[in-house]
Amino acid sequence: MAERTIEIEDQITVGALAEKLMLPVGKLIAELMKNGIMATVNERIDIDTAQIIVSELGLDIELTKKQVSAVNTEPRERRKANQKGNPRPPVIAVMGHVDHGKTSLLDAIREADTAKGEAGGITQHISAYQITHNNRDITFLDTPGHEAFAALREHGALLTDVVIIVVAADDGVKPQTIEAIRFARKAGVKIIVAVNKIDKEGANVPQLKQQLAEQDLLVEEWGGDTVIVEVSAKTKQGVPQLLDMVLLVSDVEELKADDTIPATGLVIEAHQEQGRGPVAICLVDEGTLKQGDYMVAGATYAKIRNLESTSGKPLKIAKPSTPVVITGFKELPQFGDEFRIVKDEKTARTQAQAVEQQRRHDGSRQDIGSGELIRMINRTNEVTELPVIIKADVQGSLTSVIDSLKALDSDEVVIRVVSSGVGAVSESDVHLAHTAGAIIYGFNIQLPTSIKRLSSRDKVPIRLYSVIYELIDDSREEMSKLLAPEIVETDLGRLRIKGIFKTTKTEVICGGEVLKGKLTVPALGRVYRGKELLAEVNVTNLKRGPQDTKEVFEGEMCGLSLATTGRVDVQEGDDVQLYSQEAVTRHL
Ligand code: GDP
Repeated sequence: MAERTIEIEDQITVGALAEKLMLPVGKLIAELMKNGIMATVNERIDIDTAQIIVSELGLDIELTKKQVSAVNTEPRERRKANQKGNPRPPVIAVMGHVDHGKTSLLDAIREADTAKGEAGGITQHISAYQITHNNRDITFLDTPGHEAFAALREHGALLTDVVIIVVAADDGVKPQTIEAIRFARKAGVKIIVAVNKIDKEGANVPQLKQQLAEQDLLVEEWGGDTVIVEVSAKTKQGVPQLLDMVLLVSDVEELKADDTIPATGLVIEAHQEQGRGPVAICLVDEGTLKQGDYMVAGATYAKIRNLESTSGKPLKIAKPSTPVVITGFKELPQFGDEFRIVKDEKTARTQAQAVEQQRRHDGSRQDIGSGELIRMINRTNEVTELPVIIKADVQGSLTSVIDSLKALDSDEVVIRVVSSGVGAVSESDVHLAHTAGAIIYGFNIQLPTSIKRLSSRDKVPIRLYSVIYELIDDSREEMSKLLAPEIVETDLGRLRIKGIFKTTKTEVICGGEVLKGKLTVPALGRVYRGKELLAEVNVTNLKRGPQDTKEVFEGEMCGLSLATTGRVDVQEGDDVQLYSQEAVTRHL
């Protein structure tokens, strides 16, 4: 029996764990590093890893999983264990190095949809879609690019059955390819390698197979079992074969889900839509969703008003592995929120409120940047913060903005994201910004007039951008303003003391000869005896003969008054070096 038991959720940020263990976060990070885990303060680790680290630290503490009442936190685990139920379509994610053709391949797959209706021409980005191939449904998570890794790592892995790793045949295995392989392995999902761009001249498939083998992905012809399909997203060559393989690999898994229970799943995108209010794209994990159901999603809930496929077709019900568009939410749910169907509105409201309270309670722990880490490790070195609130049109851009801003963090000044979210700037954002002294950055959003008025009344800066680099430049400039200015010293001249007229506790009046440069007042001075620094002084007055003067030159004799702090025993033969100081603004 351990001395102490601590309840945590399935995953916990390093910062929050340190807090619970009452340990300096630096120590925890160091221990994680020792165990080969490079985690920053706001990265999440799972409960098993946390337990190992706790034991390694010699703490007699047992970590137990907190039972979260309102949301189901482990869909994948449960689903895997659940071998009863009906067959369900596989959920596929596409990952790979930038420019290797993830987006193009997802587009090509969508075009290959044999059940594609008339609707067509979907131009806007949809974070998931379902296609039919050989009369069977396949669901694709479409979060290509930068945000995919973070998003999938956190949430998508729970729902993904197969990861297609796209590798360009003319470029080979690259860092993000390796990261994708690691991710898929860690999540325990099947891998299919799509060797893309085989239409290109520089395509070198044998070399690519060699590189994959180095990552322990051995193709069949070399005695392994890695499924590789050669494709061209451009000419569409190999796309049907890739889909065949997706079905084949999924069949081995015998994917099933119980569709008789109340539905649960994940919010994979949420945004505001003119005339429709909050709109969420949800992926059903288990159970069956129906129009009119009460759905709790994170800290909000809905009576499902519209239930549609992601191509806009109205649906009456939605079964497991189906991505659906849902309207009717009271507020915008968050990307990554888990949802569940409950029996009535009252239950929905209560459960949503419980989650909201929990979040508020945990709120202070979120958004700890790397700067925070630096400060925690090195408390003596104060780091200045630029508090910001970030609002964006969709989760993908929000993540990108936050990530890019965090990249600006330096040892001296860091971005502190006080709050962030998808959707328009709200009254509470302005209040929060007012209290926190934060700047509100809006990305690809409009500003309602009422909010504009409120912000100008409260003098809360709101800056709207639609180009990410401009937003980043603005924050860089704001951060620069917070940097302590650089103090630049300029030597003015040097004087050799030839006589002392008066010495008090606060003043020395003396005379001497300018050895070098030009003396001016007011100036700062350092009194030296030989090389030894005797005192720091202020030079308050200069006299040429009996006359006050502003400057004297090399070779001239003059009198001068030095303001001192405490009595300074200046003697004949000492030197006074005069200098000026200037504060210069620095830039990040
Ligand atoms: P992502 O960053 O992985 O999403 O890559 P994209 O889908 O944006 O593709 C990057 C570039 O490669 C684009 O210019 C595409 O037109 C091009 N591309 C993608 N697939 C193919 C392919 O199969 N053949 C050729 N020749 N070009 C491709």
